[in-house]
This record gives sequence, structure tokens and C-alpha cells, in this order.
Amino acid sequence: MVFMNKTDTKSEIENLVIIGSGPAGYTAAIYAARANLQPLLVTGFNSGGIPGGQLMTTTFVENFPGFPDGVMGPELMDLMKAQAIRWGSKLVESDVISIDANKRPIKIKTLEDEIFSHSIIIATGASANRLGIKNEDQFWSKGISACAICDGATPQFRDAELAVVGGGDSACEEAVYLTKYGSKVNLIVRSDNLRASAAMADRVKANSKIKIHWNTTVEEAVGNDWLEKIKTLNSTSELKEINVKGLFYAIGHTPNTRFLGNQLPTDEKGYIKCNPGRPETTIDGIFAAGDVVDSEWRQGVTAAGSGCMAALAAERWLSINGLSQTISRSHTEPEKSGASEFLKEKDTTEETFDFNSEWQKGSYALRKLYHESSKPILVIFSSPSCGPCHVLKPQLKRVINELQGEVQGIEIDIDKDQDIAKQAGINGTPTVQLFKDKLLKRQWKGVKQRSEFKDAIKTLLK
Ligand code: NDP
Repeated sequence: MVFMNKTDTKSEIENLVIIGSGPAGYTAAIYAARANLQPLLVTGFNSGGIPGGQLMTTTFVENFPGFPDGVMGPELMDLMKAQAIRWGSKLVESDVISIDANKRPIKIKTLEDEIFSHSIIIATGASANRLGIKNEDQFWSKGISACAICDGATPQFRDAELAVVGGGDSACEEAVYLTKYGSKVNLIVRSDNLRASAAMADRVKANSKIKIHWNTTVEEAVGNDWLEKIKTLNSTSELKEINVKGLFYAIGHTPNTRFLGNQLPTDEKGYIKCNPGRPETTIDGIFAAGDVVDSEWRQGVTAAGSGCMAALAAERWLSINGLSQTISRSHTEPEKSGASEFLKEKDTTEETFDFNSEWQKGSYALRKLYHESSKPILVIFSSPSCGPCHVLKPQLKRVINELQGEVQGIEIDIDKDQDIAKQAGINGTPTVQLFKDKLLKRQWKGVKQRSEFKDAIKTLLK
């Protein structure tokens, strides 16, 4: 795997920097890498949602060609990433904070570094919107979430009444998904119709566990330590209270263009303007692809298609301008990625348990190491469709690997091991807990930088 460190990026001018790691970014990387351009892809980290883009917070993608039985969104993104890496793309795990589009080479500033490139593809996608209701901050991650798919399996939501806001495909998909866990799901729709595709809308209407509240808005969240109810208002000004333990937002997205300042023209909603049907922006050598330019289609497959176009256009542009520096490969056929095997990790059993293994999965391994290991133990609580967990897991594995067996990692699927999740007080995934000598030393919620985990572990090794 080619991961870049700070110093690697200083001296050289890249052929092509791709900003964003959704379907558009990875497809652009695959095409550019196969053109021997060795593109550098900045994955994004905190701003603009999680690396991997919106498919990381989707369950089954049933309309991406080539997967007749559907594929989990995070799994699809893991596969795209592995394919981009296999062909020689370099990844930088950071956020781009600005670009200087008037300089040649173009200057790209990340959180840690400056990168120079002849051309760039902007594929930063769009981020989930928030409602901004009263007490939203107080109950954020304590009942309110922007990702039903990530957080739905948490113990607090089981057999509880829940609510989803929105009327698009995301809201419908999430409402149906949550019926797996909640006793009833209230779908709060601000108008008198669902914007979702007909098939999705039909699924919602046919589900007896979903109640649709038409012409209704959410005004306030109420509770103590955890969300207990929401106050809603309908078009006849009727104020209602609905007792729910979970409130999930699915109210659309805003394109991630803030880091551009005003250097590229955008439409009134903030989407980058390109020549119609083409990836070229108004600035020479700068291309854009995926949801950041597309307020209309916004599909994984259209994003991937536009990423392909952007890479081909960039390759052509670099070549016409005599700027491309192609690499030569020692092997025409790169080594297989091994991604499919990685995705099929199994729970450790009594037979497969290894006291010295760096990474194992499931409650058996946790119990054994918790009671018997003298090393620090890093436990990641994940759920099957949690995209951020897919982002975090390889990060933790890298930390453990870098610490050369001084710490052991375990993954617990909270869907499978509900009792352990309850005992550990888990209320969202990913949650990481660090133990030493049967004591909880640190806990993190969500995706964090590798250095945070590493520093905490190191203090236990002293
Ligand atoms: P959409 O923009 O399609 O829908 C947003 C929904 O949120 C609309 O119903 C909108 O209401 C509502 N909304 C917006 N702001 C507010 C607010 N402040 N208060 C209350 N309601 C609000 O976004 P989605 O994320 O659902 O979908 C984005 C794209 O991704 C679409 O193209 C969709 O088809 C696709 N998608 C496909 C999936 C699949 O195929 N499996 C799954 C998920 C998404 P109103 O209608 O009144 O504007």
C-alpha cells in the first residue's frame, strides 16, 4: 500500500492530485493510475464527511452495476480503494484546507503540508445537512444522529420508538432500516409527498412499522441525559409531542466547496460549474467530478462515471501541455489487492484463538485477552454497515502494526455481541476502548487521527 508521509510530498510536482475519496475520486484514481500517472489522492478526514463518501453511510447498494444481489456501501468503497491502490495511486489521509488555483504548479494546502501539482480533480462530494432545532447540540450523539445506518444498532434504540426526518431516498431507506431495531419508526415529512424513488416510497408505505407524518416539521428535542421526545408542528399549527429515543436526519446535502474560496464559479446552491456534460472547470488544469458538480443525478454510478471522464480529460490535458511524467512498471500486472479476503474476516473461536495475535474478532478473543493478557487491548465496537468503522479499522491496524505487537486489537460487532455492547455502555459506532490490566483507560467515539490512539497506548507502555 502506498501511503504518503509528510516529507514525501515536499519536493516533487505531482502530475495529478485528486481531492476526495468517494466513487468519483477513486474511479479517477484508478484510471489515472492505470495511465501510469501515479496520482496522489487526498482522502479527506474530518471535513466533508468521512473518507469514502456518502456510500460509507449506506447499507445495501442495489443499483450499482455488477452486483446483482447488492453490495454494502462501505464494502464497495473498500473495493474501489483497494483497486486504486493496486494500480499505484498514492493516498494522503488529510483534509485539503485551500488551493491556490492561480499558481502553476497549483498549490494544495492540507492540514499538515503543501502539495504541488500540474493538475487537480475536485471530487469532494457533499455533506449531510443538519436541521438546527432547539437542543440539537445537547442531544447530538445522545439520540440525534445524521446516520441511521451507522448508529441504528446501538442498544438505546432497540425496541424503542424512533423518528427519521426527510422524504427522499435516504430518509426512506433509513426508516426501513431502523424498523429492524426500533418498535416503530415515525417518518417526519415537511410536505405532502415523498421525493424518493417510487420503489423506495412503496416500501415505506407498505411497512406497518412506519408511520408517516405529512406536512410536519420538528421544532425541538427534549430529554435529560438522552433524547426522550421531539416536539413537532404540522401545517395546521398543531403542536405535538412524540416519544422517541432516536431522531435521524436525512434532509439532503451541501456540496463541499468551502476550501476553494471564491476561486471557481459555483451555482446558487454551491455546486461547481463545469462546461455542460464535461469535467473541465473554468480554470485550465482543474477538473471536477461527482456530487460536487451534480445537484441532479447524485448516484454512485454517475459519480464513478464522471470521475472516469475527469481522469481521461486530465490525462489528455497533461499530455497536450507536455507535463505528464509517467512511471514505468517493473511488473505489467500488479500484485492482487487481497481486498476480498480482508472483507471476509471471521470471529475468533476457541480453535482459532491465538494469544499473540495482533488482531482478532469477537467476544471469545475479548474475554480471553481481557482476563489473561498483560498488554494494552484496543477494542473497536463496530456494526456491520457502519462506514466510519471501515475507515477506522485499517487505521487501528496500522497503529498496532507500528507498535510491533506491544498492543492487541479486537473488533466487536455490536449487532452480534449485544450483551458486551450493553455492558461496555456503547451508544454509537465506531467506539474504541483502550484497556490495560482489566481497567478502561481511554474511550473514543467516531473516527480520530492515528496519533491519538498511538499516544494513548504509548503512555501505557512506559
Ligand atoms: P434529497 O435531496 O433527495 O431529499 C432530501 C429530503 O429532505 C427531501 O424530502 C426534502 O424535502 C427534505 N428536507 C430538506 N431540508 C429539510 C428541512 N430543513 N426540514 C425537513 N425536511 C427537509 O436527499 P437524499 O439524501 O434523500 O438523496 C440524495 C440523492 O441520493 C438522491 O438522488 C437519491 O435518489 C440518492 N439516493 C439513492 C439511494 C439508493 O438508490 N439506494 C439511497 C439514498 C439516496 P422536500 O422534498 O420538501 O424538498
